[in-house]
Amino acid sequence: MSKGIFNKILWIDLSNDTIEEKELTDEIIRQYIGGYGLAARLIYDNMPAKADPLGPEAILGFFPGLLTGTGAPFSGRFMVAGKSPLTGGWGDANCGGYFGPEIKKCGYDVILIKGVASNPKYITIIDGQKQINDASDLWGLDCVQTEDILKEKHGRGQIASIGQSGENLSLISGIVNDKGRIAARSGFGAVMGSKKLKAIMLKGNQKITLTDRDKLLNLTKEYNKSLEWNGVFLGLKTYGTTIATKLFSIAGDTPIKNWGGSVPEDFSIENLDKISGTEILKYKQKTYGCSSCPIQCGAICKIPEIGIEETHRPEYETAGAFGTMLLNDDLMSLFTINDLCNRAGIDTISTGGTVAFAIECYENGILSKDDTGGLELTWGNSSAIVDLVKKMIKREGIGDLLADGSKIASEKIGKGCEKFAIHAGGQELGMHKPTYSENRGAAYAFDPTPGRHTSAKLEVGSRMPIIKPNKLFEGFQLPRKIKVWGEERNEAKKLVIAQYQVTCSLGLCEFLYYFPKYPLVGLINAATGWGITIEEIIKTGLRIQTLRQAFSLREGVDIINIKLPKRAAGVDYLGDYRGTLEKLGWNTQNAYPLKETLTDLNLDFVIKDLY
Ligand code: SF4
Repeated sequence: MSKGIFNKILWIDLSNDTIEEKELTDEIIRQYIGGYGLAARLIYDNMPAKADPLGPEAILGFFPGLLTGTGAPFSGRFMVAGKSPLTGGWGDANCGGYFGPEIKKCGYDVILIKGVASNPKYITIIDGQKQINDASDLWGLDCVQTEDILKEKHGRGQIASIGQSGENLSLISGIVNDKGRIAARSGFGAVMGSKKLKAIMLKGNQKITLTDRDKLLNLTKEYNKSLEWNGVFLGLKTYGTTIATKLFSIAGDTPIKNWGGSVPEDFSIENLDKISGTEILKYKQKTYGCSSCPIQCGAICKIPEIGIEETHRPEYETAGAFGTMLLNDDLMSLFTINDLCNRAGIDTISTGGTVAFAIECYENGILSKDDTGGLELTWGNSSAIVDLVKKMIKREGIGDLLADGSKIASEKIGKGCEKFAIHAGGQELGMHKPTYSENRGAAYAFDPTPGRHTSAKLEVGSRMPIIKPNKLFEGFQLPRKIKVWGEERNEAKKLVIAQYQVTCSLGLCEFLYYFPKYPLVGLINAATGWGITIEEIIKTGLRIQTLRQAFSLREGVDIINIKLPKRAAGVDYLGDYRGTLEKLGWNTQNAYPLKETLTDLNLDFVIKDLY
């Protein structure tokens, strides 16, 4: 048995009220690492093709990264994974806080849930005791109330729960931990809601055995020390991601007015100043961050003006989705909406994108005041925006129409409004424009979880302070000519995709990409004793991406024909992708992995499903 892992899956079947442990071999973990890599293999194997994502056969998995819980820098993340009810294909959502490490403390590498309960339930795994409990009195409560009640009842522990949006099967709902961290993307709040599972509470007492704890500690200390005077480190530590709101908007990266506007023409510098990181910082009460993170980029805020005693600081993505995208400079409305969404468990990116869609429909006479239940949905009308979010959470009136995202709403409304729905494959795009960063369009359209703000991309053309890929991890070499379209750039994109799959699956935060020389190989080997090499890491990353792709193809998603809306498309994103396909060993016409590629990556079991 390798060190750093428990070789155990906890399987919970809510239809039969059963909980059982199953063995997970070293071989599978080494081939898929952990996190969404391991998720891809276990869910591919155990979930029947074309199963209803909201039905009993659907599997909902909670996966800490391989390094989660070891103390390695940036390693506190975990992933929720399964079939996305929003896109119909592979889905994963990445989240921080303390829930991920607690899965390990309970002695598991994975928690998998299937079946549908007959009435609301919550699961407890407390000091080795596992139970499925009645949750009738929790159903209808928000995630903060749910955490408070469960802690009062069971004592200290880590909780992941759904709010009203997940209960109402909103396809843009997520799963919340730490009273406001949310595994938001892919619609897993609805999957949990469909299973009538309100919450999972964990409290473990197991320790992870490491191959060389001293080495892991030394590498961690050395790396963390190297960050201390880094400007980006200090900026993130102080302002969190809101440091980017003004900077990226001025630079042209952040979408304005539902992707159709610009700064300063539609949203002035004065508007931006009102919702900037500096303004938000005035409300900070204390620092908050994920487990084992040297930055701690989060904050807990108090907002006396609107009677909020304690709430998470809004992130850049939220300030974009409800600020610049809606031409809304009312900071109090941003705090209110952020708190509402965190409590209800609904994705702020998709919700903001859908509100932007609704406003544009209203401004163009496609939706009327009668349709909106009296709301005047004009750009920047913050009180109407807040009221609309409340309606979406409750699925009330027009909120019901919008609660499954802009694509589904646009199909129901018709009248040519599809052009206002800015999504990829059904999921609203993150708050970064492909017109600003060249490879972003291909990443939005063609990653197996489309529309994600966090996905592998080669940052070319952008002026973000991203570290040059060659300096990120020791021993990792990219070709030199990455600015010019062609052979070398395509090879670089393949390598970046591979590398990204592995860092995610290790449980690492994407922000490590801002800093040089993360001791990737050393940390994995200090934890596991595997003797892994960069070559194996690259092959593993390719295996993970290929299997995520195969899952979506098996579900019938026509990935290569996913189209980005014109105003968000940027460079020739399909052309950008075709060269990558060749390097990945996938068919350049339909994005199916070639048979020989599947064999080379030990994915032969996929061949019968795709050919
Ligand atoms: S940088 Fe922020 S999001 Fe990333 S691990 Fe640290 S606290 Fe979490």
